[in-house]
Amino acid sequence: MGVAPDRYLLYGILILLSAILVFVVRHRRRTVKEMELKVQMLKKAFAISEDAVIVLSNDNTIVYANKAMIRMLDLPSDFVHGKLDPVPSIKVKREWIPLDTFLTQLQQSNKDKMQSFPHSSLSIQKHQQHSIPVNLYVHRTPVGKSHTKWCNIVSIHDLTKEYERDRIAHRNELSNLPNQLKAKEDLNKLFAKIHLHNKKLALVLINLDNFVQIRSMLGYEQSEQIIVRFAHYLEQLAKESSYYVYHMSSNDFLVCMPVVETVDEVVYFSHQIQSQLQSFYKINNVRFHLTASIGISIYPDSGSTLTLLDHAYQALAEAQKNGYGNIHIYERSELEKKYDELILFNAIHDAIDKQEFEIHYQPIVRAKDKEVVAAEALIRWKHSEYGYIPPDVFIPMLEKSGFIIDLGRFVLSEVLKQQKRWEVFKFKPIEVSINMSLLEIETEGFVENVSKQLTEHQVAPELIKFEITEGVAMENESQADRQLQALKKLGVSIALDDFGTGYTSFAYLKKFPADILKIDKSLIDYILDNEEDQRIIRAMIELGHNLGMKIVVEGIENKEMVDLIGSYGCDYMQGYYFSKPLPAYEFQEMIRR
Ligand code: C2E
Ligand code: CA
Ligand code: CA
Repeated sequence: MGVAPDRYLLYGILILLSAILVFVVRHRRRTVKEMELKVQMLKKAFAISEDAVIVLSNDNTIVYANKAMIRMLDLPSDFVHGKLDPVPSIKVKREWIPLDTFLTQLQQSNKDKMQSFPHSSLSIQKHQQHSIPVNLYVHRTPVGKSHTKWCNIVSIHDLTKEYERDRIAHRNELSNLPNQLKAKEDLNKLFAKIHLHNKKLALVLINLDNFVQIRSMLGYEQSEQIIVRFAHYLEQLAKESSYYVYHMSSNDFLVCMPVVETVDEVVYFSHQIQSQLQSFYKINNVRFHLTASIGISIYPDSGSTLTLLDHAYQALAEAQKNGYGNIHIYERSELEKKYDELILFNAIHDAIDKQEFEIHYQPIVRAKDKEVVAAEALIRWKHSEYGYIPPDVFIPMLEKSGFIIDLGRFVLSEVLKQQKRWEVFKFKPIEVSINMSLLEIETEGFVENVSKQLTEHQVAPELIKFEITEGVAMENESQADRQLQALKKLGVSIALDDFGTGYTSFAYLKKFPADILKIDKSLIDYILDNEEDQRIIRAMIELGHNLGMKIVVEGIENKEMVDLIGSYGCDYMQGYYFSKPLPAYEFQEMIRR
């Protein structure tokens, strides 16, 4: 009697187990089916992809390749689980490496990490001859859960179309020579390196004369032929020399001679082109007489690199004024000649070592009693040949080369040394303001350096101000703001310089951390005769005061200005009326107690 219930229990369990088994098997089947469907879907997705994808096992067996890859590598369609053969090569740093070697090298340098490696602009070679520019990505991933087997997923993006588009954008359609766009790009690269050698660079701009006339005489086809022939001639010339040739627009061509010893060399070359032209086109065996006008600009003789191409066009216009077949070289004006950019650029880097920089101090007076209470430090470069060079000439050069950072540090340390001397010799305390450029504020460690120098020289931070120009402060608002706040924390104050020359909004001014507003000279130049200017200055002073700032008016040159502007309640004045910027020893005569 006691057995029956056990047996029922056993039956019960058996039925339950088989039910579970049926469920599990069905579930597994369903899952497998779902997985298969997903795999099918993914395969379809890869099949329509334009990027070529291949999955390779560690021993270089093809696990999968999509249609784009089959096309790209000419794989047999029955490649399934075959070896990749022939192995395509890829070009890395000018060297062709078989893809499998490349993958092994990647693997060694990155261990077994799953990682993606984008490689820009590689070339891939299918069979020894044909290569295509590509971007290549490799993703290494384990197969299954055990992580014992790995495979490489390689995706290749064909850049041929992009290259072609780029090529078309940079070529003249008719002659296939590099065009104006390419000229500008190449010239910028050349100019960047121009200071490395002491040679000249010449731009020779050639215009085939009278082309409208020629076209109307010979017709479209023949005249196009002339252009193509001339382009071809220049191209040959470029191949034989180190010149660059460009087809700028319909009948304008540019030759860039990157390294030239003398101007004569350029003129000789230009004459050569002209004499070639006289005989190089024939119609029915009769010579067709062609001429060209040529404009030449030479660096550094014709000015800075920024204007060199413009100057070549100006020279061409000049040449054309005198009829056909003339050559004109751009000549600089007297003002342009005064400071030779190349000489200055080369000399400026030694100028600190040679102690050619000097700080001059321009007094700033308190408006109510005209007592000198502050000064602006203004840099001067005493050049052995040119004498004093104004900062407007060399500061932009220093900004270009990044050397302004060193100069800024030099100015700060000179001012601090001077402050210490005045303190030791019991002069009255004078607040000195120092100009700073955007590049300095943007430089990492700027504030730290100020803090370090203040401690080193033991000067009270209240005696130092930094001036920042209005436009500069707004150019990189948030970065400038952070740095200025950090500066203020050190205890130095900030002046907003050249106020009124930019477009500072009221909202911006309200949150700008300046203690002082310096109203620019240009705003008061005509103040004595212009009532509107008077109203503007009055309003500016009031605005500044409402924002809790002190006001300095710059560029005060006469007694009338002092009286008028003084009556508006400005706090400080600066200008030639009180004094020009002076060397330290002269300035200190004004502050002797
Ligand atoms: P800024 O900061 O606006 O300096 C004022 C300029 O106006 C100075 O020219 C000064 O000599 C001139 N000036 C002062 N009062 C009068 C006046 O009554 N009439 C006239 N016509 N001019 C007056 P400077 O010394 O040639 O400096 C030119 C600019 O060079 C400065 O303009 C400043 O932006 C920059 N600079 C000067 N020193 C430094 C420096 O150490 N570092 C940096 N980053 N820039 C500097
Ligand atoms: Ca200034
Ligand atoms: Ca100023």
